[in-house]
Amino acid sequence: MMGGTADIELIDKKGKRLDGRKADEMRPVTIEAGVLKRANGSAYLEWGGNKVLAGVFGPREAIPRHSQDATKAIVNFRYNMAPFSVDDRKRPGPDRRSSEIGKVAAEAFANVIVLEQFPRASVDIVVEILEAAAGTRCAAITAASVALADAGIPMKGMVASCAAGKAGGKVVLDLAQKEDNFGEADVPLAMNMTTGEVVLLQMDGDLSPKEFETALDYAMKGCKDIYEIQKKALLTRYQRVIEGEA
Ligand code: ADP
Repeated sequence: MMGGTADIELIDKKGKRLDGRKADEMRPVTIEAGVLKRANGSAYLEWGGNKVLAGVFGPREAIPRHSQDATKAIVNFRYNMAPFSVDDRKRPGPDRRSSEIGKVAAEAFANVIVLEQFPRASVDIVVEILEAAAGTRCAAITAASVALADAGIPMKGMVASCAAGKAGGKVVLDLAQKEDNFGEADVPLAMNMTTGEVVLLQMDGDLSPKEFETALDYAMKGCKDIYEIQKKALLTRYQRVIEGEA
């Protein structure tokens, strides 16, 4: 959430950010696929200070029955923040923000999963935010995509997600917590990396058209880098399967 101005220097005189990053530099990201035994697919992701666990269940018979679609599967996405994931303990359970993130993420994945193959079924994606440090929706979508691939769910492409925005008067890639709190804008993006289609684009704050273009450019480049890390996580996972370790 954009908090507006504050007496905090988000960009120093050398153009570096609070954590020493350059404008178009992403925080470190690591992903491990296949971490949950009882899920059909899963992934654990760390992205800067974010720690995120994603599980995929299904395709399975959609419950309740009236939610079923006779022509295709439905996608459920539950985004949940652990009470201990933020500085001030978060009240457990769903709230407006988590419903919103769950809704837009489900819609993003409904665009890439081959739903027609599974009439009356649901694909249930569950993401737990264990530690939050800005950009959790991008982290959640990125982890969920790896979990879906790990579950063997047919997709038209992998979804990668990354945000760009504006902080300290400068367009930057992948806002950190303080940049998100005190910055001017946040633009999360998610793309189908096979087709290049945009499956999610949101914006919080304000940007000039020119700044928006740069932010979108940065976020697209971010998605490309994320995609490489996703592929590596899946390759490592398959390697483990081949070697009989999982
Ligand atoms: P995103 O996590 O996708 O950037 P928001 O812009 O809504 O979504 O939130 C920005 C950041 O603010 C989150 O990543 C998290 O670190 C923090 N945050 C969100 N909700 C809370 C909360 N209830 N209490 C404290 N911090 C929160």
